[in-house]
Amino acid sequence: MTTLIDFKDQPAFKAQNGCEQAKLDLVGMDKPAIKAALSTIGVAEKQLNMRANQIWQWIYVKGITDFDKMTNVSKELRVKFSEYFTINRPEIVEEQISVDGTRKWLLRLPSDIAGIAGPEIETVYIPETDRGTLCISSQVGCTLTCTFCHTGTQRLVRNLTASEIVGQILLARDRIGDWPEGTRPNDAHLLPSGERMITNVVLMGMGEPLYNYDNVRDAMHIVTDGDGIALSKRRVTLSTSGVVPMIENVGAEMGVNLAISLHAVRDDLRDILVPINKKFPISELMEACRTYPGLSNARRITWEYVMLKGVNDSLAEARELVRMLKGIPSKINLIPFNPWPNSPYECSDWEQIEKFADIVNKAGYASPVRTPRGRDIFAACGQLKSASQRMKKSERDKLLEANH
Ligand code: SAH
Ligand code: SF4
Repeated sequence: MTTLIDFKDQPAFKAQNGCEQAKLDLVGMDKPAIKAALSTIGVAEKQLNMRANQIWQWIYVKGITDFDKMTNVSKELRVKFSEYFTINRPEIVEEQISVDGTRKWLLRLPSDIAGIAGPEIETVYIPETDRGTLCISSQVGCTLTCTFCHTGTQRLVRNLTASEIVGQILLARDRIGDWPEGTRPNDAHLLPSGERMITNVVLMGMGEPLYNYDNVRDAMHIVTDGDGIALSKRRVTLSTSGVVPMIENVGAEMGVNLAISLHAVRDDLRDILVPINKKFPISELMEACRTYPGLSNARRITWEYVMLKGVNDSLAEARELVRMLKGIPSKINLIPFNPWPNSPYECSDWEQIEKFADIVNKAGYASPVRTPRGRDIFAACGQLKSASQRMKKSERDKLLEANH
């Protein structure tokens, strides 16, 4: 079942269509950046810390988008803020709600080319009994070309800014009502974790997060700041296809969980499925994971393994998988392949997945094979690719050519 909503009245839509002048977006800025922005509009030096803290709380703890609601800021200053700044959300093109409660948003980002609609990304919310997981994108499309992934067939349009990465979380919280009630300033406490609807965030949407490292890092600092959105680092997971030189930095600078898209236990096969393997082969990947900062039994690496019929699903491969992970605190996620139109693979038979999982389980890994969620709205892993992006590609190519 699908619910479609028209979002043409949103401020973001209006701004992108020339109805409002461009202003500085405060979302995605850290506190020093907010202070610098306030300084440029003449806020007194001795007030900078206090004002930056107030703004931070209103944006990340209370979720407001309207400066007028900042009731602990003078009317005069609120007017000034709204003249120079905005608190943006990505524009919602479409919201779909699955029969199982999964929600998918198609979001449009600002365009680099005047007169052409901006590029689109997708964000997915998956409610479960014990958690609510938000799957966010880090790039529009992907430069990598994993052969089983729909996003991989879409060329990269651009990296997301830190604001756009954080903005996906703020927007999802708006839409599912995940902000605390009331807007009194003294009320600006965090929504208790037990009452939150988004408890986990995974960077498993469109794009390779480690090819947009700086923006992803800045965004994760905001998301895990205990004084703001305050998601525990243990509840944030970054998934990479294996950009080996950046892996240590993820642990050292972001401190979030790491997931690796492994999908094959031999280089010859992984070279085909996950072509970045030609640059960073399995042995180098394993070494980077073995030495991942903060790795422990309480903080394991998640290995993602997509089940492709007759390609990587033999029981010998299951045994090899277990062997190669020995000594690395690990979780294994067996993912049934999610087909897309004309995809060159099929999902393994259920019987085979169970046998494969059995070997993995007997080796001591709890490896639940997750039932794909949001099937009716194509919200599953690797299926994210916006239809309108495809339709407008030729138009976009022509314009790009004309501009160069
Ligand atoms: N680029 C990153 C994160 C995005 S993909 C990465 O590759 O890790 C998130 C997960 O979905 C990855 O493990 C990816 O391999 C998997 N995936 C991609 N396409 C899929 C498909 N069609 N079926 C099942 N899983 C898929
Ligand atoms: Fe890109 Fe990840 Fe898809 Fe590979 S699996 S093409 S890295 S999004």
